[in-house]
Amino acid sequence: PSRESVSYFGAGPAPLPTAVLEKASQVLLNYNDCGIGITEISHRSADAENILKDTKSALAQLLDIPTQEGPDGYKIIFLQGGGSGEFSASVYHMTALWVEKRRLEIVKELGSEDDTKVFEALRKAVDEEFKLDYLVTGSWSLKASQEAARLVGANHVNVAIDSRKSNNGKFGTIPDESKWSLTPNPAHSGMVYFCDNETVDGVEFPAFPKVDADEYNIIADMSSNFLSRKVDVKKYAAIFGGAQKNVGTTGITIAIIKNSLLTQLAKPDLLRKLNLPVGPVVLDWPTIAKNNSLYNTLPIFDVWIAGQVMQSLLSKATSSSGPKIATQQAESEHKAALLYGVLDKYSVFNVVPDKSVRSKMNICFRIGGESDRDDKEKKFLAGANERLLMGCKGHRSVGGCRISNYNAVSVEKVEKLAKWLEEFAQQQQ
Ligand code: PLP
Repeated sequence: PSRESVSYFGAGPAPLPTAVLEKASQVLLNYNDCGIGITEISHRSADAENILKDTKSALAQLLDIPTQEGPDGYKIIFLQGGGSGEFSASVYHMTALWVEKRRLEIVKELGSEDDTKVFEALRKAVDEEFKLDYLVTGSWSLKASQEAARLVGANHVNVAIDSRKSNNGKFGTIPDESKWSLTPNPAHSGMVYFCDNETVDGVEFPAFPKVDADEYNIIADMSSNFLSRKVDVKKYAAIFGGAQKNVGTTGITIAIIKNSLLTQLAKPDLLRKLNLPVGPVVLDWPTIAKNNSLYNTLPIFDVWIAGQVMQSLLSKATSSSGPKIATQQAESEHKAALLYGVLDKYSVFNVVPDKSVRSKMNICFRIGGESDRDDKEKKFLAGANERLLMGCKGHRSVGGCRISNYNAVSVEKVEKLAKWLEEFAQQQQ
């Protein structure tokens, strides 16, 4: 089938705007009329630097990111290693940050720089105090918390909520914050980590979690809802996301990191002595930031694609003030409402997560009851494939169906799918 005739709802890698891909096919052959293609030019060339500059500027405009120098500004960096790489990077970084902060306090308390005394007090503080807090609301935050336990030891990981516990062992809710057990003393917490949109389970935080951002360092994985809605960047210590869902091609991860986090980190020697991990340099946020994301060879083509997608979002933006992503947010909400509208109308469909936390990006549902579920889901998916509505099968751990409603899926394609949902439901009555 032709590209135009297919509607693709896969969870990632995910669709990209056709116009961007058409332009990409040209720049792969000859970039900026220089006679060689974009994957062939040096990542240190002026062209590459311009691509980086333009992409960062587009992102800053879309999300209203304060990019000034100084502690309250943010750096935008590009890394490799995917969202999973950042599960590890956030642990390495926030551990080093916590240890250095605590070391400086101890030096002050003891009124001495005596290495042995300071080290012994610090070792005790790490053992007794240091925690990384995780809000586990789905498969990806679970994986991130498991990576933290692998790196620093489970004794330093505090799972402040595991939403399966109050929902029959399944993800699908976000318990009320009165039920969260964050590390009570914020000075003992290295970070509060959460996944803004759980791609597998279809659970999205409806708003910024009710955690005091002045007290705790808050880090969010936005891999699957990046650039789908407004974000109050100033509340975060760091935000990251792999590009391959809503932003571009597989190969880069985007991180937005508060400047105040990039200084005063414990030295590798000290971390090793404390039996805490030292991460690979390619995941080291300060090193990548200092080198304008060019510490090592960056896939500039992927940055270019992300930049083009961002430009197309900017050109759609209608309001002259506030974050430019607002226009796309309205479209995402409209598309999600079309789909949930049909799913709620017919009892044959059951949306997996609770209504209050339904994702606008990954819409997870089951069809039929215990006895006829397999048959009905197979029929629905076969009918969808016949209509060239592809990629609607749910993740193997949840089953059923999942529609990914990323930015490059047009309203028209969502309408086609909503029509098939409606038709299918009526056949079942
Ligand atoms: N976080 C979320 C929310 C994801 O959906 C994914 C991948 O699907 C990841 C992290 C892992 O990303 P990667 O495969 O880029 O490591």
